[in-house]
Amino acid sequence: MNLAQLQRRLASLQQQLLSLGPVHPGSISEQYNVCGQPGCHCKDPKKPQKHGPYYQLSFTWGGKSSTRFLRPEQVEPMRQKVANYKRLRELMNEWVSLGVELERAERARAKERDGD
Ligand SMILES: [Zn+2]
Repeated sequence: MNLAQLQRRLASLQQQLLSLGPVHPGSISEQYNVCGQPGCHCKDPKKPQKHGPYYQLSFTWGGKSSTRFLRPEQVEPMRQKVANYKRLRELMNEWVSLGVELERAERARAKERDGD
């Protein structure tokens, strides 16, 4: 990419970052449990049906690991935030890569100018 292309790409990245919406780190997992109630279907010897799914969000932030249960209505909004967070990381990586490339392109151009 030349300098103008790099700058256009950077402007596009900035727009995407601004329109990202809420973010949250982590991953969502499904849990199925067995209870302590005698004779419950979750312990049926032939066809056990465990309780669930229960949704759990696990994440590490600021050096601290956390796990939280999510109510069913919280699952989809959290999936979106987790996806946004992943996208944010991708955009940030690309932004930094572009910064490095831009610096290189600008130095190359300055060198050409000095050579004239
Ligand atoms: Zn049970």
